[in-house]
Amino acid sequence: MIHKAIRGTKDIYGESIDKFDYIIKQAEETFKDKGYRHIITPTFEHTSLFQRGIGEGTDIVEKEMYTFYDRGDRQITLRPEGTASIVRSYIENNFFATEEISKFYYYGPMFRYERPQTGRYREFYQVGLECMGSNSYILDAEVIYTAFSFLKKCNIVDIEILINSVGCPKCRTKYREVLKSYIKERLDNLCNDCKVRYEKNPLRVLDCKVDSCKKEMKEAPNLLEYLCDDCNTHFEGVKKYLDMFEVPYKVDNRLVRGLDYYTNTVFEIVTDRLGAQGTILAGGRYNNLIEEIGGKSVPAIGFAAGVERVSMLLENFDNDNRFDIYVAWMDEDVKEYTFNIINKLRQNNIKVTFEYEKKSVKAQMKKAAINSKNVIIIGSEEKESGLLALKDLDKREQEKLTINEIINKFRK
Ligand code: ATP
Ligand code: MG
Repeated sequence: MIHKAIRGTKDIYGESIDKFDYIIKQAEETFKDKGYRHIITPTFEHTSLFQRGIGEGTDIVEKEMYTFYDRGDRQITLRPEGTASIVRSYIENNFFATEEISKFYYYGPMFRYERPQTGRYREFYQVGLECMGSNSYILDAEVIYTAFSFLKKCNIVDIEILINSVGCPKCRTKYREVLKSYIKERLDNLCNDCKVRYEKNPLRVLDCKVDSCKKEMKEAPNLLEYLCDDCNTHFEGVKKYLDMFEVPYKVDNRLVRGLDYYTNTVFEIVTDRLGAQGTILAGGRYNNLIEEIGGKSVPAIGFAAGVERVSMLLENFDNDNRFDIYVAWMDEDVKEYTFNIINKLRQNNIKVTFEYEKKSVKAQMKKAAINSKNVIIIGSEEKESGLLALKDLDKREQEKLTINEIINKFRK
């Protein structure tokens, strides 16, 4: 029997893993600069955490979760997203009592039972951050700025930042009623999913991707006109500080995120280069989630990017994984001498490679050209004189140096 990876999963290797590692590195550098610290949470949790945290009416909880009973009869779900677990950890580990503001970043696999297609998998990776403890609109702007900086650092620039406010439960209740009566008159023309959304989560009808639904919703009442004074002030503040952070954005009053827990600011970073899977990063404020899951009332905000989708947009990234020096050796007489040289180079943090078994000089030069920036060939002459010819394979230049001179050269 030939074993194959399960539908919607994949191995990540070769160029894909180079890209993956590169993206995570850019994210970590960007996030750490803003005070975020790494957190690793388990990949599975009690199902109830996600039901509560993500919301019963959402696509994720309703049809996308990998849920099973373990051998101890616990109902368990492979995490479909990162926020609920981090909030659980924030509460469980009492961060609230020990620090005013908590900043976490994470990356790892997420699991959703969706129809696999380009940019959409059943096991995929997210990298994201969460900040608990402040309701300042400056933080909202800084979080969006951080998301933007991360993608900019990856050289991904042809993107659009969309922002909106979904208000607080107070203003949203009012809007929901107005929206429901608007939808009610058009219900027959909407898709089946939207008919269900109308009952459970009418705001979600606003961002249905079906063309006929889009058309019907064109004249729908504008959420932003129903914001209460506090929510309005907050949204104005976010926009003002985004301008100050010099982050380009567009207000999209249709933008409502798929997860229930958002309040006030929501945002997405989109591209038109990935077809239907155009959202590469998404997030928002969730001022009621921590309390909802059993903690104190603490305001928070976060986002997650899809690593595979970022990877698809990555073009010229710095991918020079080559060794500094390939040390070729001619025959058994110089083998030990060569290994002493290699040891010295490595002790000085120079990235070196060599052959374990004797190979022809031609074969060694061929390999060097593929995986190294420079080459040294060691024969009996080099062993006697202690002078090594260091050849730069890019510039095709060569100079004769002692081992110490080589070490100094690379130290610079
Ligand atoms: P979509 O509308 O594409 O289904 P979503 O609203 O479900 O996305 P979030 O839950 O906000 O997405 O997740 C944040 C990001 O994670 C998305 O913007 C996307 O880049 C990525 N993502 C979500 N689901 C998948 C998936 N099944 N495969 C790959 N990436 C995904
Ligand atoms: Mg989805």
